[in-house]
Amino acid sequence: MNLEKTLNPALSNLCSFKLSGQLNELITIHSLEELRYIRQHYASIFVLGKGSNTLINPNHHYDAIIKLSPKLLEPRVSNQYLTVSASTSVNKLMTLCKQYELSGLEFCAGVPASIGGMVTMNFGCWGKEISQLITDIMVMTPSGEIQRISNSECQFSYRSSTIKKEDWIVLSCTLKLTKSRKALVEKEIKDAITQRLQKQPLREATFGSIFKNPKTKYAAELIESAGLKGKQFDNITVSSKHANFLENTNNASYANAINAIQTIQKEVSKQNNIHLEPEVDLMIAT
Ligand SMILES: Cc1cc2nc3c(=O)[nH]c(=O)nc-3n(C[C@H](O)[C@H](O)[C@H](O)COP(=O)(O)OP(=O)(O)OC[C@H]3O[C@@H](n4cnc5c(N)ncnc54)[C@H](O)[C@@H]3O)c2cc1C
Repeated sequence: MNLEKTLNPALSNLCSFKLSGQLNELITIHSLEELRYIRQHYASIFVLGKGSNTLINPNHHYDAIIKLSPKLLEPRVSNQYLTVSASTSVNKLMTLCKQYELSGLEFCAGVPASIGGMVTMNFGCWGKEISQLITDIMVMTPSGEIQRISNSECQFSYRSSTIKKEDWIVLSCTLKLTKSRKALVEKEIKDAITQRLQKQPLREATFGSIFKNPKTKYAAELIESAGLKGKQFDNITVSSKHANFLENTNNASYANAINAIQTIQKEVSKQNNIHLEPEVDLMIAT
């Protein structure tokens, strides 16, 4: 099989945190046949979406790191149902929503993510979660079978689903949206981006929330009360806009990021006796 393999790709092009360093190899998948081949010939696979919630570990233990090409599947619209391929970016989603006058996804606007990552992580904010809009997804199972999985079978919960546990690769997702008008959708998107810009360091190199919120408190509050908001760790800063975000200010490496995360965990645990669980995928083999 003639696969598209990129040798030594720069991590800065593969994740929104713009890590320094490089991967050994990245395989881009253009067809279901290629994906099935990979499933059958590589024991462990890591699927990279837009890398907006992944710290890419250059010393990972996976047999293959893959990215799905946007050409795997064309978007389909039927009344208020939108089906998109896993690699569809949020920007492209917003364009489709405006074009087909569909509302519901505006809360995701401005985030540099892909639908595959958003489904897997059950993306959410402001009391909304993408799982509330998903009817079903198409996946490739570890044996290379293509299966339609209903919303309830995904077992969505806070920033989680059963997708990782089952080792499914998301191929596409169908969302049930609401019929609207183009101007209204445009306004909602604009408002969502304005709100994000006020609350998050949207223009900086970040990877979204570092930690999940514990049951009783927001992670950002705990980090702030530990005196870490704005704190600098060499080339990484705890955002002064939102303490649960790290900003890569000067070519930070994976090791730098892990060091910052562990230091925050230790400080918060010392002061509040609460263990913060990373939301970001650290690509550590389990
Ligand atoms: C500025 C900024 C703001 C953010 N705001 C939010 C927010 O409001 N709410 C929120 O929930 N998150 C937020 N995030 C985090 C991030 O955007 C989400 O977690 C998003 O869902 C990740 O999508 P991705 O395509 O970048 O996934 P990646 O980071 O590439 O991958 C995330 C996980 O999903 C898996 N995955 C990706 N694609 C597939 C696939 N096709 N099949 C199987 N597994 C797959 C990966 O293996 C990995 O485990 C933000 C990030 C940034 C940078």
